[in-house]
Amino acid sequence: MSDYDYDLFVIGAGSGGVRAARVSSAHGARVAIAEEYRVGGTCVIRGCVPKKLLVFGAHFAEDLKDARRFGWNVPDCDFDWKTLRDNVLADVDRLEGLYTQTLGNHKVEIIPERATIAGPHEVKLASGKTVTAKYILVATGAWPMVPEVEGAEHGVTSNEVFHLDECPKRVVIAGGGYIANEFAGIFHEFGAHVTLVNRSDQMLRSYDAQIRDRLLQISMGKGINFRFNAQMERIEKNEDGTMCIRIKDGDPIACDLLLFATGRKPKSDSLGLEEVGVEIDDKGAIKVDDHNRTNVESIYAVGDVTNRVQLTPVAIREGHAFADTVFGGNPRTVDYGCIPSAVFSHPPLAAVGMTEAEARNKLGTVKVYTSDFRAMKNVLANRNERALYKMIVDATTDRVVGLHMIGPDAPEILQAAAVAVKAGLTKQDFDDTVALHPSMAEELVLLK
Ligand code: NDP
Repeated sequence: MSDYDYDLFVIGAGSGGVRAARVSSAHGARVAIAEEYRVGGTCVIRGCVPKKLLVFGAHFAEDLKDARRFGWNVPDCDFDWKTLRDNVLADVDRLEGLYTQTLGNHKVEIIPERATIAGPHEVKLASGKTVTAKYILVATGAWPMVPEVEGAEHGVTSNEVFHLDECPKRVVIAGGGYIANEFAGIFHEFGAHVTLVNRSDQMLRSYDAQIRDRLLQISMGKGINFRFNAQMERIEKNEDGTMCIRIKDGDPIACDLLLFATGRKPKSDSLGLEEVGVEIDDKGAIKVDDHNRTNVESIYAVGDVTNRVQLTPVAIREGHAFADTVFGGNPRTVDYGCIPSAVFSHPPLAAVGMTEAEARNKLGTVKVYTSDFRAMKNVLANRNERALYKMIVDATTDRVVGLHMIGPDAPEILQAAAVAVKAGLTKQDFDDTVALHPSMAEELVLLK
């Protein structure tokens, strides 16, 4: 029996923390997990899950319109935000229950309060109690970053957007990344007039230029407005609750909702990390080695608070690797190569591996194959929206080093194709695979 109250104390019950807690417990550790808000963290409570449900909800706007071309007699339909909002929030409650149950089944003690670090082996709870643990794992995630603009308090972030009383008629979204493009699509499909305001002239900068240009073209074609190189100067709230967004060197924009989607900052403040000597970088990220260990031997960190790759499946892998390493007698690290990702915009885009620009810089000679097509369903629906698939191949080895797609179901298709890219398969391997016809995915094995 160790001298500590617990073998492991996890701070933060999000994706990374929950996985680390339950696997460590399965390896025989005595584990407690503290959560100041709700079990499930950003992904389940106010991120990936409710967002994806809103994306499904938004898609019906197009599906109902398209259905007429497929012979369905669809009457004019109304959208009721409150029904969708409440159903989504109820599903979030359900999932929170499941996460809580899973922790309970694994004999992890859940402590529903804020915890801070009081020493290398000591955690202080909000109630005033101090507990000890052989190891402490920080998995507190990240928090929306709101730029310093006069009147910024009148805007909301992704934390609040799922709880709106009404669906706004005019929405301004600050930022041009994942959340901005996903919510631009969602609100537009719900009938709002959407303007995306970005400080630079590029959106989704980590994605391939041709793919993001296609999203921009399609989004503009649908009626979403974009203001690039635009700096917000001031946000004014009117007595009737509407807002006026003042832009430097540009026309002001009137709106009912301002959503800040300007990045997420590691949530490392006021956790007692500096006091105990844990190193934090200039962006607030906890510095860790390949085994998720900080410079303080007994303190580890996983997930967004380490700002490596801000994606749920990565945090889960880090949490699992931590548990196997520290309690499972199986030291292992996470492989960060070829992580697939997607933006659930309308239409969605997805990618794995190097963009064309990255491949040209790194490899010199590359071959690029593209398929620019209108999905069969879009043709019959008279929907003038073209998909674009792009394959980047190392010209010397024939190895596929990147796949980039925009079009219906792109994330679903890319997840499977990412296995081939990760496995290092060649363009010839793709060509040798017989097409599955008729499908959109067959374009991947027919690229010329
Ligand atoms: P992103 O990093 O994707 O985009 C941030 C945007 O805000 C960029 O356009 C950036 O401009 C702009 N920006 C940054 N700082 C400022 C500032 N001070 N003032 C004005 N604009 C600014 O962040 P998101 O908030 O959209 O999402 C956060 C993270 O969450 C993502 O990086 C992603 O890892 C994760 N996420 C993943 C999703 C998915 O997997 N589908 C969905 C949602 C979030 P510039 O490019 O010019 O710097």
